[in-house]
Amino acid sequence: MARKWRPKSFSDMVGQEHIAKTLQNAIEGDRLHRAFLFTGTRGVGKTTSARILARTLNCKGGDPLHPCGECDSCKDIDGGNPMDVLEIDAASNTGVDNIRDVLERVQYPPVIGKYKVFIIDEVHMLSTGAFNALLKTLEEPPEHVIFIFATTEVNKVPQTILSRVQRFDFKRLTMDQIRGRLRFICEQEGINATDEALDIFAEKADGSMRDGLTYFDQAYAFTGNDMTADAVRSILGIPPVELFFALVNAIENHDLKGVFKMVDDACTRGIEFTPLLDGFGKFIRNLLYTRINAFSADDLSITEELYSKFKNTALSLSNGDILRISKMLIDLQAQLRYSTNPRLMVETTFARMAWLDRLTDLRKALAAINDPKSASDEALKKKVAEVEQVLDSSAEDESPFANIPGDSAGTYSRYEIASAWPTLCAGFANDGDLMFSAALAGSTLETGDTHENPFPIALTYVGETENNASWNYQQFMEHPEFLERLQTILEDKLQTKISLKVKTRAFTEAEKQIEAVRRMTPYEQDLQKEPALAKLQQIFAAELVYSVQMKKNVAPVGDIIDPNNDN
Ligand SMILES: [Zn+2]
Repeated sequence: MARKWRPKSFSDMVGQEHIAKTLQNAIEGDRLHRAFLFTGTRGVGKTTSARILARTLNCKGGDPLHPCGECDSCKDIDGGNPMDVLEIDAASNTGVDNIRDVLERVQYPPVIGKYKVFIIDEVHMLSTGAFNALLKTLEEPPEHVIFIFATTEVNKVPQTILSRVQRFDFKRLTMDQIRGRLRFICEQEGINATDEALDIFAEKADGSMRDGLTYFDQAYAFTGNDMTADAVRSILGIPPVELFFALVNAIENHDLKGVFKMVDDACTRGIEFTPLLDGFGKFIRNLLYTRINAFSADDLSITEELYSKFKNTALSLSNGDILRISKMLIDLQAQLRYSTNPRLMVETTFARMAWLDRLTDLRKALAAINDPKSASDEALKKKVAEVEQVLDSSAEDESPFANIPGDSAGTYSRYEIASAWPTLCAGFANDGDLMFSAALAGSTLETGDTHENPFPIALTYVGETENNASWNYQQFMEHPEFLERLQTILEDKLQTKISLKVKTRAFTEAEKQIEAVRRMTPYEQDLQKEPALAKLQQIFAAELVYSVQMKKNVAPVGDIIDPNNDN
């Protein structure tokens, strides 16, 4: 299908209308450049457009914009081994000799059509020598020669070449465009494909029409003329959404059996772990989106029915649950490729998700300890009561998006605000303000001269380097309203005017040392001290959870292996 329905004129090209229009204008106005550069990611139609341009320019039919498909030139090009169009893949012909070979042929006039067209694909792969040889020809190309270069990496093409070509930037295709083209092909071929099935191709294609068509072909070879979403998913190894609802349900009910069954189901269906986890990531994202009401069913390309299913599931989880699940998922995705037993790793991580005690928000409890307001007995009691209340109440559905964070901690002095920061942050998370609290995660408050008015405060993200453009910091750059909001909150807490800014900085030497030790558990320190432990850990891919120092040469009570006895 991909081959059969490859576009043959500019009017068939999907998604690159801006390019087709410019080229058509140039052809009509007879203002044609001698050399073109087509850039863009893979599979967006660069080579196809180059072929269309060659076909259009050489057609002998009456219409200058629509190749006739009948004349000598059209037939020659359609035949597959055209005399006037030369395609070179620079990826496999990088050397200067290859290019000389090509340039030799530039001097000979076209045989059938008006132009001799040279299409050089992946042109950035040419060697410097090859580029220089090419440059000479580009400076004074013969009248009958057209060069079309295509590249995925325009930044690697020398400036000397760039200045001598007309450049066209190809866009990635939208899901709509890919879906539309596939729908067109289905109509022409009499294939019954559901919208949902075509959505799967369009989404998996990720902006590349060629990939979309390849997946379509793969599926078509099995399904024939009746293409359902379920069949397409099973052929492409894409996990169905029910699998994830089952997984989340199992996690929510601490149902380990359910978790393992889901992994088993996925394996039985031949779904690999990478698409499984990617799919779960998208699922969690949809849960978040429906929870915060920021997107409609249409925006998410799902049915209203599925949308409300997402919504119901999302509301049965707390923000903390969703954040923890996604954090564990992201960690899992990062570690999976190094794992020798990916299935076990996936199963144990999902099991840990199910073990999550959703009633406990450790962060809140810890924050209470750091908070200066905890100093007095009275305040401490209040804090404990508060933590307990949070633990008890988080099972109930709270409003998912409260606008004003809880005022439980009252007001703070200028000296206290920085150390109270973790408590305040925990408050935002528990009040359900997801994006805002996620953006604040990992930040500290740094205060300036306490006598100054307005009181200077910097929301600081500390990292390995000064330019640690972490996701959290980015959020503040992209959402100025976050900063305004934080300002209001802090001014309320301090009962004074403040001047607030956001900054990043690198760890100081002292902080680096603290950080290194903080990251190391006592057992990890033992691991460093005892090479034997490290070896055991390596052999059994074990996680050290407990270790105890024993006296040398004293064996524990019980069965003893005597090192002096060869038996
Ligand atoms: Zn023709």
